[in-house]
Amino acid sequence: MENKIKLVQGDITTFTADAIVNAANKSLLGGGGVDGAIHRAAGPALLEECRTLGGCQTGEAKITSGYKLPAKYVIHTVGPIWYGGENGEKELLASCYKHSMDIAIEHGIKSIAFPLISAGVYGYPKKEALEVAISTLKEYLSSGIEISLILYDYDTYMLSITVNQSLEK
Ligand code: ADP
Repeated sequence: MENKIKLVQGDITTFTADAIVNAANKSLLGGGGVDGAIHRAAGPALLEECRTLGGCQTGEAKITSGYKLPAKYVIHTVGPIWYGGENGEKELLASCYKHSMDIAIEHGIKSIAFPLISAGVYGYPKKEALEVAISTLKEYLSSGIEISLILYDYDTYMLSITVNQSLEK
């Protein structure tokens, strides 16, 4: 059984796993950042399927096929917008990771990769976002699913190593 969250620097759209997670917006109809990159890489059929889903609430998650992606599935979750940290942001962000993992378990997914949800346009401070991501995902290591956290830029990747070490102490 895996006993660690894998921290990987790279582009989630090229990552090979049973499922990748999309940091979407409530419409599920595409956007910028990782959402735009996933839709471009998956092709237009992803947007067609997303149109049938009726959007998604903050902290919730919905699954689609991965189409042209290396991943078989995309799990779309909607992170909270950062409004200073006293508006339920932490609980909502943890809920994104939990609901995504619950869907992964339901679908028999054996490997999953997450971006750092809310830490781009939605403004969640990176260190705090990493603490929520890593501590919440650790609760799912006992599921046996291989869990990777994909950090897009080098600085965030380096920060993820520091945060991971501080959570181990
Ligand atoms: P949000 O709206 O949830 O903040 P963003 O897409 O703006 O979503 O950013 C979420 C995180 O995804 C950021 O840390 C950003 O650096 C990262 N990111 C952007 N593009 C990619 C990509 N292709 N692969 C992995 N991570 C990405």
